[in-house]
Amino acid sequence: MQRIAYPIGNRLYLNITDRCTLVCGFCPKNTDQGPKVHDYDLTLDHRPEVEEIIAAIGDPTDYEEVVFCGFGEPTLRLKVLKAVAGWIKERGGRVRLNTDGLGSLVNKRNILPELEGLVDSVSVSLNAQDAGVYDRHCRPQLRGSWRAVLDFLAEAPQYIPRVTATAIDGLEGVDIEACERLARELGVEFRRRELDKVG
Ligand code: SF4
Repeated sequence: MQRIAYPIGNRLYLNITDRCTLVCGFCPKNTDQGPKVHDYDLTLDHRPEVEEIIAAIGDPTDYEEVVFCGFGEPTLRLKVLKAVAGWIKERGGRVRLNTDGLGSLVNKRNILPELEGLVDSVSVSLNAQDAGVYDRHCRPQLRGSWRAVLDFLAEAPQYIPRVTATAIDGLEGVDIEACERLARELGVEFRRRELDKVG
């Protein structure tokens, strides 16, 4: 049976796709660890539909928040993401989106207005202080990805109450202080993540 929802602490994480717009060198998907988080095997044999995801959630108010995360980029399934987030909000739950910040670039339109009222907080992988370091670690499939992440971060606070940029401390060439300064300049919060810690 595939794992669509998995609790960690008082949060419930949702694994709605295994597709990504990045091929990060540090991603467990691309290392020997395989697609595992906290002993949960997140291998998907099919991409779950809205009803299946809702059934896996149960009562969203049992958790501090429900987080779209997993080993894929949730905004690649924007329609499903919006439908499930809307369902969670209607039932009084809180929604966080963990994203690579490339949803607007991939979907070829600004997706942020569509997330207003559906997403309470967003955590965006900034990952680097410049395009060179970003491209080296994240290996984006689309040109202009790093710039697109910055645009996404700068615009997100207009639509989403809490916006946080993240970067991983310990990755070669990543200047974590510079990443934090950049996040502040963009008007968002910053969270330092640790290498090899997911979830
Ligand atoms: S964006 Fe996340 S899931 Fe996708 S390759 Fe990078 S680390 Fe892995």
